[in-house]
Amino acid sequence: MDNAIIQLNNITKKFDGEIVLDDINLSVKKNEFVTLLGPSGCGKTTTLRIIGGFETPDEGEVYFDGNLINDVPPFKRQLNTVFQKYALFPHMNVFENIAFGLRINKMDEKLITNKVEKMLELFNLKNYGKRRIDQLSGGQQQRIAIARALVNEPKVLLLDEPLGALDLKLRKEMQHELKAMQKQIGITFIYVTHDQEEALTMSDTIVVMNDGIIQQMGTPIDIYNEPENAFVADFIGESNILNGVMHDDYLVEFLGKKFDCVDIGFGRGEEVDVVIRPEDLDLTPKGEGKLEGVVKSVTFKGVHYEMDIMVNDYEFLVHSTDMAPVGETVGLTLTPDDIHIMEKGD
Ligand code: ATP
Repeated sequence: MDNAIIQLNNITKKFDGEIVLDDINLSVKKNEFVTLLGPSGCGKTTTLRIIGGFETPDEGEVYFDGNLINDVPPFKRQLNTVFQKYALFPHMNVFENIAFGLRINKMDEKLITNKVEKMLELFNLKNYGKRRIDQLSGGQQQRIAIARALVNEPKVLLLDEPLGALDLKLRKEMQHELKAMQKQIGITFIYVTHDQEEALTMSDTIVVMNDGIIQQMGTPIDIYNEPENAFVADFIGESNILNGVMHDDYLVEFLGKKFDCVDIGFGRGEEVDVVIRPEDLDLTPKGEGKLEGVVKSVTFKGVHYEMDIMVNDYEFLVHSTDMAPVGETVGLTLTPDDIHIMEKGD
C-alpha cells in the first residue's frame, strides 16, 4: 500500500438490492497500467465510477495517495475520465477542445497555449489545432479526447473502453500508442475493457472480474500462463475445460483415460476442472495419440489452423501449425505440463 496511488478496501456496491461489486480489494501503484477485464456486466465500469467518485460504495473505503476520498466529489479528485463516447464539443476547434478545462480554471493564456501545444505534439496532431472536430477521423477524435483529459496533468486517468468505437486496425495502433504515451509521461492508467487481447497487450497488471468478484490479479504473462481457475483460463485464452477426477495427487482421469499431471495438491477422488490450452494439443497420426478423435472443422487462421476435434462426446478446440482434413481420425498428445488442474468451478 506504500506506493499505492489508488487503494480500494472491501468495496461492496448494490443496485436495487442486487450485489454488483462484492468485497473488491485493489491496489494500484503509481505509474502502473492496470486493466479491469471481464465480461459485460461483471462490474468493471462500476468499479471505475467508484474510483472516479461518480458512484458511492455501500461499504468499503477508497484511498487516493493514502487519503480517504469516499466523500470527495469527482471534480476535486486528481483524476480524469475518458469514455468510449468521447463527447467532444463540435462547435469548438481542436485547440479549444483541449484547452477547455484549463480555461475553466482561468489559467494564464500563454500557459494554456503552451500546454495545449505540448499535447498536440504528444499525440502527433501538431498542425490540427484549428481543425473542426467533424473534420477528424475517429482515431484523431479519440486522441483529442485523451489529450483533453491529460492536459491538466491528473495523477490518474480512468479509461472506460476508450477504443471500443474504433475499427480493429486503428484500435491496435492506438493500443501501442497509448501504452507508449502512458510510460512517456509517467501517469497511472486504470483501463476498462472486455477485450482479452487488448488487456494482454497494454497492461502491467490485469484484474480479471466476473459477477462483481475479482477472480485473479497479475501480470499478463501470469494471468495467461497460470490462471487460477477455469473462468480465467477460458476468458483469457479460449480453453478446453473438462470434468476430471484425481486418482492420485499426480494422476488425473478425464474422457475415460488416466493422465500424468503435475502435483498441485489435489487428493484422490477429488473432482476437478481440467484445463487444456488449444495450442498445447499436438496432432499425431491415428493410433499414436493417447486420445483419438475425428476432425469436425478446420479454419486457416494465418499462423495456425483452428480445428474442432471430437473425442468421445467432447469437442476439443485445437490450434496447430499441422492440419488434418475434416472427417479424418487423428491422435492427440499431451504432456503433464499441458494439463492444468483447477478447483471445480460452478
Ligand atoms: P459492460 O462491459 O457491459 O459495460 P461492466 O462490467 O462495466 O459491463 P457495470 O456497468 O459495472 O458492468 O454493471 C454491473 C452491473 O450493475 C450490471 O448488472 C448493470 O446492469 C448494473 N448497473 C450498473 N449501473 C447501474 C445503475 N445505475 N442502476 C442499476 N443497475 C446498474
